Amino acid sequence: MKRIGVLAVQGAFAEHLERVTAFGAQGFEIRQCRDLPDSFDGLILPGGESTVIKKLLHELGLFDPLLRGIREGLPVLGTCAGMILLARAIDSGEAPCFGTLDVTVRRNAYGRQLGSFRCTETFAGHRIEMPFIRAPYVTLAAAQVQVLAEHKGRIVAVREGHQLACAFHPELTEDPTVYRYFWEML
Ligand code: GLN
Repeated sequence: MKRIGVLAVQGAFAEHLERVTAFGAQGFEIRQCRDLPDSFDGLILPGGESTVIKKLLHELGLFDPLLRGIREGLPVLGTCAGMILLARAIDSGEAPCFGTLDVTVRRNAYGRQLGSFRCTETFAGHRIEMPFIRAPYVTLAAAQVQVLAEHKGRIVAVREGHQLACAFHPELTEDPTVYRYFWEML
């Protein structure tokens, strides 16, 4: 059985756990270093507040082991704040977190008026519902980064090798498309 760790220090991790469990994986929460098994099959970085999650990752000593895992090829799905944590750069000039995904993101990119909305767009060839909550989008993607979804001309989902990131919250819809895509990366 595949084992998928969901970072559970802050933010929307509970729904991700339900989803991976529904897929027949063994989902487990990562709250501190001792939650990390010697090896596991996939990692999910949820939505939340990326600045808070980043601070907690360092305080809890989770940053180094997770970075090592991602660098060594652990499949990772980052959603919303999770996308920001993976990004190589943030266009405001803030320091990146893991910086393993070769994109630049803009945080809270839709402004106050359009802070949260739902739309239907194409993700890797499938029409799916996308809930956005104070979401980022990708302003720049390196040539090797595959664009999987756009909304109004803005990149909202990407894949680079074993890293998958979306600006929206797939865990807040019933649609399994994004999880199925991640599953196939494991
Ligand atoms: N606005 C948050 C941030 O910048 C992301 C929001 C979310 O994950 N829903 O970190």
